[in-house]
Amino acid sequence: MNDIPTRALPPPRREPPRPLVTRRVLLLGAGAALTLGLGGAAVSVGSDLPGQRGALRSGTVDQSSAQWTAASDANYRYANRPEDYTIDRIVIHVTQSRFASAARAFQDPGHRAAAHYLVRASDGHIAQLVREADVAYHAGNREWNERSIGIEHEGFVDAPNRWFTDAAYRASAELAADISARYDIPVDREHIVGHDEVPGATHTDPGPSWDWDRYLSLVRAVR
Ligand SMILES: [Zn+2]
Repeated sequence: MNDIPTRALPPPRREPPRPLVTRRVLLLGAGAALTLGLGGAAVSVGSDLPGQRGALRSGTVDQSSAQWTAASDANYRYANRPEDYTIDRIVIHVTQSRFASAARAFQDPGHRAAAHYLVRASDGHIAQLVREADVAYHAGNREWNERSIGIEHEGFVDAPNRWFTDAAYRASAELAADISARYDIPVDREHIVGHDEVPGATHTDPGPSWDWDRYLSLVRAVR
């Protein structure tokens, strides 16, 4: 994993609207939820959404069980993945804070970091903060940010019994299974990794108490 090619040019910060939804995009418009199938034309449907970025702007989620909670756009970079960057990794994090604090941090433009998803420990509720198409600053490594989806889990690495709940494992595994299916990411420890395993990582989450065997078997069971 050390021979990742270096990209010569960064993508432009803003890109034209995407004409198609990738898959299973849920539009939250005018109080009504509408699920579109693969390749469905989404632009005209999302008329109450900001038009500049097409229908996949805020108000949309990539996973139907997630609730959109927009991060500050200082904490991610607009992109058009997987067209401009292949998505082939899922990075698992633990917040080292409570759910509400983590969500607030991701909404703070001064935080300079956010993940795509945040899973709540008590009930497995999932917030989506950054579109999967965009590059969230979560891995502490530019190339890994560009190639990955980041999932944060509410909790503290030294209190796994309190925070690494069955609800969180199950909800996160369902999310990871959905992501891995949509981008054809193998369900193994090379492609689903901890933040502490990202090259050059200075963070230690999710830590030694994260139950990888349990997590991957749950992902495989769903997928
Ligand atoms: Zn982390």
